[in-house]
Amino acid sequence: MINWLSDFRRNRPSKNVVHIDEHSSARRHQVSLALLKATTDLINVEDEMAMLQCLCECIAACSPRIRLTWAWIGSTDSEVIRPCVAAGSAKAYAHNFEIHRNWLTARGPAFQALMNGEPDLYSMTWLSRLLFKPWNSQEGQSFEVAAALPIKMPDPSRRGLIVMYADEPDYFEKLEIEPFMACLRLCETALKQMDKNKLLRIQAMTDPLTGLLNRRAMSEQMVQAISMARRQGGTFSVIMCDLDHFKRVNDTWGHEIGDQIIVQLTQLVRQSLRQEDQFARLGGEEFLCLLPQTDQDSAYAVAEKLRLMIALTPLNINGQHIFMTASFGVAGYRNLPGEPDDIARQMLARADAALYLSKDNGRNRISA
Ligand code: GH3
Ligand code: MG
Ligand code: MG
Repeated sequence: MINWLSDFRRNRPSKNVVHIDEHSSARRHQVSLALLKATTDLINVEDEMAMLQCLCECIAACSPRIRLTWAWIGSTDSEVIRPCVAAGSAKAYAHNFEIHRNWLTARGPAFQALMNGEPDLYSMTWLSRLLFKPWNSQEGQSFEVAAALPIKMPDPSRRGLIVMYADEPDYFEKLEIEPFMACLRLCETALKQMDKNKLLRIQAMTDPLTGLLNRRAMSEQMVQAISMARRQGGTFSVIMCDLDHFKRVNDTWGHEIGDQIIVQLTQLVRQSLRQEDQFARLGGEEFLCLLPQTDQDSAYAVAEKLRLMIALTPLNINGQHIFMTASFGVAGYRNLPGEPDDIARQMLARADAALYLSKDNGRNRISA
């Protein structure tokens, strides 16, 4: 390797030559205290970006010597690192800043920390400033040293980075990065908890067989749709659907095949709805579609399209084609006084009554 390149890569502060004086240990104490105080804010945030923003602000607030802290989360094999959030007196520097992976930037602190999963310190020199494109434009920022710290994410294919810039050579070495690392460990624990909470929230809202929304999630969607229709004067409708004679399917083919039929039919229906339509399994073989910006007549037409599609599409069950039918009940939103959840219940009751009218009238039909 030619000399200037190894100089570029190896030009790191050496621990042995850094003299930790009283001033430094007082500073370290101050920074540790500031980080410790900030930890309560960190564990109370609810999403990744809010946590990173909070972390950057905590670090930037530790000392005026830390001119900039930015953070990023992405795939471990990312080709570009672009700050997601930034804080500090020089934070404007991070706005249009991006590091593209190449033979040179791969030796810089951000990509080193990303690739190795280890903290990386880098003292800037005239040579590294000249060669390293992201640092070209930093005149006036007086960055002397950069420290990149990796954040372990719950999903191992992703990694986070915190990159700090100080305006004093050896700043991070004198201070030692342990307090920052301790703060990051706490973030990692909070991120794990966030991930678990997210999974629990998804599980609480999803039907496990079909992956559709469940009854509870759909009730929430209806309440939101009612609030929105009231605020903006729009409308929406619901279509309730129940498969016909499904007990016979179970009795003839068994419960497992019954499940497969439910899954195939829900996929068919989902594909023929619009992206913005919501589709939920209320229970058993009963479903509800919520159609935003759709009046009752238009919803009736959608129900007719679904009815025909279900009746005419052969389902492939162990190589055999079988046909199913379904009955429908449609209810459009009516602007009535009352709490949104009461109005939602009333709408569901109307759709349910209409559905049972369809059953009473011979099934494979729609009522409103
Ligand atoms: P109807 O035309 O009146 O709707 O007749 P039905 O036989 O479909 O009767 P109903 O809707 O009242 O009952 C639904 C049946 O669906 C009851 C149960 O055997 C079956 N079922 C409910 N949930 C599931 C499920 O998750 N999987 C399977 N395979 N079957 C289910
Ligand atoms: Mg049924
Ligand atoms: Mg049923």
